Amino acid sequence: MSATFIVSANEMTEEKPTNKRKEFVVMIDAGHGGNDTGTPGTGRYKATEKDIALDVSLALGKMLDKLPNVKVIYTRKKDTYPTLSQRAVLTNKKKADLFISIHCNAQPGKKGKKFGTTAYGSETFVLGLSKNKTNLEVAKRENSVIFLEENHEEVYEGFDPSSPESLISLIILQEEYLDQSIEIASYIQKEFKVTAKRKDRGVKQAGFWVLSKTYMPSVLVELGFLTHKKEEDFLNSKRGKKIMTKSLYNAVKKYIDLHSEKVYKESEEIISETVPDFEDMQSSQVFKDVTFKVQLSASSKKIAIKAYNFKGLSQISREKSGSIFRYFYGKTSDYEEIKRMKARAKNKGYKDCYIVAYKKGKKVPLAQVLNQ
Ligand SMILES: [Zn+2]
Repeated sequence: MSATFIVSANEMTEEKPTNKRKEFVVMIDAGHGGNDTGTPGTGRYKATEKDIALDVSLALGKMLDKLPNVKVIYTRKKDTYPTLSQRAVLTNKKKADLFISIHCNAQPGKKGKKFGTTAYGSETFVLGLSKNKTNLEVAKRENSVIFLEENHEEVYEGFDPSSPESLISLIILQEEYLDQSIEIASYIQKEFKVTAKRKDRGVKQAGFWVLSKTYMPSVLVELGFLTHKKEEDFLNSKRGKKIMTKSLYNAVKKYIDLHSEKVYKESEEIISETVPDFEDMQSSQVFKDVTFKVQLSASSKKIAIKAYNFKGLSQISREKSGSIFRYFYGKTSDYEEIKRMKARAKNKGYKDCYIVAYKKGKKVPLAQVLNQ
């Protein structure tokens, strides 16, 4: 019996090498470092933003490293300053699946004061254009480290760190990953609120240079305000760092669990989609009260729902949530039908498209519908 088993196991690995789970690579970027201290906070502590960011980054990496199939890499492991450009180049070269940049916030001062002391709470940014003054201030401050770098005019090719809007052309490049960036950002904010009991300042968008140059889902986390005494005390404490690290770990783990499984399932699905037999084309599986759609993309831009904007696909619909527009193809209660539509969208080039489900008009997890 055992001999037979070994033979068939070997055959399986030879025939289906794609069925292995792909290694999930997480790049952790501790903001600032070296001469760039980040925000000094109220000045009551020797530690500044760069130190807290590094402590939390290393602790998070250590926890994630223990997960099977997860590889953690860092932009820095010590008190050094890699340039923003070096951080992005390394992240892309290592083919990371997720980029997390960790920072602490500072409230700008008014009327000659160095800083404000009232703002507190945690927020997570994804790349986008923002007209909101507070979001722009955060992006400006985080981008301003570029001014400290030598040859910054050359390296950043005319990008003005004090004008996050000058990133507009780069923002379009990252838009492909926007939906997943928002997804991980909302897991992080939920954890900060529920696990760490922080004030939830929400998922926000602004023009961060470092997020615009990484070609994978990317977020920038502001753990809290070092200009707020109580929050500064919390973030400097062992307990505070531990609970923020645990929150980030829970969120990233959830994201990995959902997305590495997707890699596994989709490789199987693609095989069946490329060779649809006659029976497949005819089959149907109707779910009462359920509507399926294929999500094609998400964008901060409002695009006319015409076939020419969607690679010739018709039956396009659009939904708005917050400042994000989501674009869908098809609308049916037949799960087999929507699977065929998804295959069609993939053939047209929407390689990351996926099926979403609505029950009585409310969005529900697809797995919930299929397992009912
Ligand atoms: Zn920072």
